[in-house]
Amino acid sequence: MPGSKPFYVIPEDRYDNVLVANAHPASWVNPEPASTYNLVVLGAGTAGLVAAAGAATVGARVALVERGLMGGDCLNYGCVPSKAIIRSSRAAAEIRDAADYGIRTGGPVDIDFAKVMDRMRRLRAQISEHDSAERFKSLGVDVFLGEARFLDRRRIEVGGKVLRFAKALIATGARPVHPPIPGLAEAGFLTNETVFTLTQRPDVLTVIGGGPIGCELAQAFSRLGSKVTIIQRDVQFLPREDRQAAEHLGRVFAKEGIACKLNAQVAKVTTESGKKRVHFTVEGSEESVVADEILVGAGRAPNVEGLNLEAAGVAYDKRAGVKVNDYLQTTNRRVYAAGDVAFPYKFTHIAEATARIVVQNALFLKSKKTRSLTIPWCTYTDPEIAHVGMYEKDAQAKGIEVRTFSRSFKEVDRAILDGEEDGFIMIHVKKGTDRILGATIVARHAGEMISEITAVMAARKGVKLLAASVIHPYPTQADALRQASGQYYAGLMKPSLRKILRKWFAWKR
Ligand SMILES: Cc1cc2nc3c(=O)[nH]c(=O)nc-3n(C[C@H](O)[C@H](O)[C@H](O)COP(=O)(O)OP(=O)(O)OC[C@H]3O[C@@H](n4cnc5c(N)ncnc54)[C@H](O)[C@@H]3O)c2cc1C
Repeated sequence: MPGSKPFYVIPEDRYDNVLVANAHPASWVNPEPASTYNLVVLGAGTAGLVAAAGAATVGARVALVERGLMGGDCLNYGCVPSKAIIRSSRAAAEIRDAADYGIRTGGPVDIDFAKVMDRMRRLRAQISEHDSAERFKSLGVDVFLGEARFLDRRRIEVGGKVLRFAKALIATGARPVHPPIPGLAEAGFLTNETVFTLTQRPDVLTVIGGGPIGCELAQAFSRLGSKVTIIQRDVQFLPREDRQAAEHLGRVFAKEGIACKLNAQVAKVTTESGKKRVHFTVEGSEESVVADEILVGAGRAPNVEGLNLEAAGVAYDKRAGVKVNDYLQTTNRRVYAAGDVAFPYKFTHIAEATARIVVQNALFLKSKKTRSLTIPWCTYTDPEIAHVGMYEKDAQAKGIEVRTFSRSFKEVDRAILDGEEDGFIMIHVKKGTDRILGATIVARHAGEMISEITAVMAARKGVKLLAASVIHPYPTQADALRQASGQYYAGLMKPSLRKILRKWFAWKR
């Protein structure tokens, strides 16, 4: 069944048992359905949980259906486990570089991979309580564990029970794409659904795909001691991002010893003596690399199959997902969709933001549009790459003239003191105004810093606010935002104006 998730989690240790007890308890008995629900939610990932909790909080009768683990990708196979191991890999990198800070560590870094994964599972289990079936039951939500499918335009079936709805939300998320590479399936490969079950480090790892998932995990495994090759079919990593940011990351990867194969097309996978050989071509020349494991991060496909969307009158596309309008309504006006199943930008905070829109539009006045969202995102490599709004290329494509204010962290005191000068800020404004079109931050803490620009954009303010009104404590790396924004005024000081001011000052003397 596509997208199906197991109810047990390997390696089934005490932490995984806690996770499963929270996220899909074996003893769970589905409740008797209400005669009609205000909202039936399909899928208990971020979008489903946020919508169900929000709707129950305002007094709606809500049913939530989950076939796998509550918490969805973010908790179980995505953000949470990946950020836990990224943190361990950062610790390894910091200890590796400790001598730069005058600290002797007494030898090479000794990584206990099993302990790294143990820590990840412990923290994931701890966090899982928040998404647990019991917690949602206590919020007044009827939680049904099982596979949901539409019977018709107003009814859903789960485990032989029929849920009638006034409104429904499809929040069934996405799953990793399995690329049709000859020999890949036979050789076996990891995806985000299986990589976090590892208890032994693959000494040699090949990562296919240089998007956010591939880049984050390639660097994390490399820092944890795997010899990593990353194969990316595009000419740059993170194809969506500004070229400067992506190239910067490529240089960091190369410096850290990750073998980077850009513009590379994977041809096939073969096996030899228990190892996996990935064959690929780079600009016509054939290459191959041998690995213990292959990790595939080659895109995400929306979970639209098996839902019987035709019976509900909900239009969808197997690649783009459920079709929604600006209010997140599908072609059945009673049915909405949110999160990865309907959005090209597959992030937890977007799942959350779109779920909130659905609660408003489905249960109250239909007034909130996705168009009004200001959406940032971040790839948690080191340095992080965070972005909000338009890229310069988008603005140019729309014929908007752009002025860009940049600041290197090499010029920012706190970054110098922290030994974190690696990165820069670019803020794009509409020429002739201070309106921020978009911004990219490449920095160790870029994900934290981007929110300040997002807030300014969401409030419909401009760089003048950042440059002249917001005071940043000294020394902070976020002060780089003020420094970059300050260039707005430098551009305004035309020679003619300076001449007038000179005369005025002379008169004042
Ligand atoms: C490795 C990795 C790292 C990531 N890191 C980040 C990050 O750092 N920051 C970030 O913002 N995003 C990150 N993401 C993306 C993030 O995990 C997703 O965008 C988010 O989980 C989407 O939430 P969702 O609710 O739309 O879908 P999901 O979380 O996928 O939830 C959908 C749920 O629906 C259930 N379901 C599907 N079909 C049915 C059915 N027929 N009946 C019942 N239930 C069904 C599924 O079992 C699943 O639990 C990461 C993703 C991955 C893979």
